[in-house]
Amino acid sequence: MTYPDTELFIDGVWRAASDGATLPVANPATGTQIGRVARASLADLEGALAAAQRGFETWRSMTAVERGRILRQAAILVRERADRIALILTQEQGKPMAEAKGETLAAADILDWFADEGMRVYGRVVPSRRDPAIRQTVVRDPLGPVAAFTPWNFPINQLVLKLAPALAAGCSVIAKAAEETPAAPAALVAALADAGLPKGVLGLVYGDPAEISSHLIVHPVIRKVTFTGSTSVGKQLAALAGAHMKRVTMELGGHAPVIVCEDANLELAVKSAGFAKFRNAGQVCISPTRFLVHESLVRPFSEALARHAQAVKVGNGLEPQTEMGPLANPRRVSAMAELVGDAERAGAKLLTGGKRIGDVGNFWSPTVLTDVPLNARVFNEEPFGPIAAIRSFNYLDDAIAEANRLPYGLAGYGFTESLKNADLLGRKVEVGMMWLNMPASTSPELPFGGMKDSGYGSEGGPEALEAYLSVRSVVVRNA
Ligand code: NAD
Repeated sequence: MTYPDTELFIDGVWRAASDGATLPVANPATGTQIGRVARASLADLEGALAAAQRGFETWRSMTAVERGRILRQAAILVRERADRIALILTQEQGKPMAEAKGETLAAADILDWFADEGMRVYGRVVPSRRDPAIRQTVVRDPLGPVAAFTPWNFPINQLVLKLAPALAAGCSVIAKAAEETPAAPAALVAALADAGLPKGVLGLVYGDPAEISSHLIVHPVIRKVTFTGSTSVGKQLAALAGAHMKRVTMELGGHAPVIVCEDANLELAVKSAGFAKFRNAGQVCISPTRFLVHESLVRPFSEALARHAQAVKVGNGLEPQTEMGPLANPRRVSAMAELVGDAERAGAKLLTGGKRIGDVGNFWSPTVLTDVPLNARVFNEEPFGPIAAIRSFNYLDDAIAEANRLPYGLAGYGFTESLKNADLLGRKVEVGMMWLNMPASTSPELPFGGMKDSGYGSEGGPEALEAYLSVRSVVVRNA
């Protein structure tokens, strides 16, 4: 199975690091090294910054129609190359091929949507309250070069959610994608470059994450910082950006509550939440995690979810029957072992899973814990893995209070047949995205983002474009 090494993309050229340094890339299903990725030096970063400044001048002076044409052409190339890109993605990240292809094709849709949305960046004319000869206009301009940092769980999706709106708005971008999954993001960048993106408009670098982020964020060329990853790293980067007065979008961790009401359709709740829980092996920021189930349903729900978990086919994502691949890296395997051990010690019951599968690769069995005490770590820390943690409630108000107890506020789920309960959940659960009677479904035209410790800003809908624009008033007296 061919897997490409990944180079840096700077000033329109794919190239090795200036000092020749590289990092290894492993396949999480086998644990073996499959390739290498170039490790940028500070000289490479300086080159990328200078190119991004030049690229910004070129890109901002083109029309939105011209920019949109290039983004749409990139979408065509991504669709044409989807099978190959999915193969690369599965090898470096582990997810099943069908999920990898779905992620790739979704990226094309996101490029298309923002290509169009970029043509709707309108200003306005505001009548003067003093003098009719004064013309007051409000204009929106691209912010400038962007530093974008993306993680390894959705290597293509997380990157395109930053690139598409930034480029559509007229910004240039230096992206640092995850070193553990470098080739799929590079394939996305290659599609944009092949579609005709002028040189310097987009750079792609890899290396030491802290070294790169601290260099780029404080650099005067960079005008906007966008990061997807853990809350702890997000807070560090936001603080650094704040100290240098840079605009910021933060898409951070979550700990999604799933409230299953007394009047829920049990079968729908198990199917929807089970599907959402084990997708991408639970390594999803909007993954359902804290299951709060009405006491009258908790036993049948838990047993049915455990049966669902046992039926999930775990294996190498390259095998067509696989429904859940390995965890993306050995750190997640250790994290799962610690969380399950801690929950059991705290008094939770392990209904199924709870152990590593085999000793090759990072496979973890789909896990269902019930009677989980509130003080168990898994009910407080984002597990970012295939663990469903269940506890019961008596009154819906208590479930809502528990949903809102944690500092996270990204996604939430509810299952109920009652309009009253659905309305209550929609209004009271403090999350950026709430799904009722269904698994998560995201689309380019809907805002995607969190509140509280889950970050700020949005990566979907018109709001995503706003994040890359500045607003200015220009007032002219014309007589
Ligand atoms: P981590 O916090 O070390 O890294 C998370 C991501 O941030 C990685 O892609 C990493 O390369 C990057 N990163 C780390 N330090 C950085 C820095 N100083 N500057 C710039 N980027 C930096 O954790 P991890 O072990 O890779 O992932 C585990 C945790 O990360 C999970 O528990 C989850 O909370 C979070 N995570 C969240 C998302 C998401 O979609 N919100 C995605 C991946 C990981």
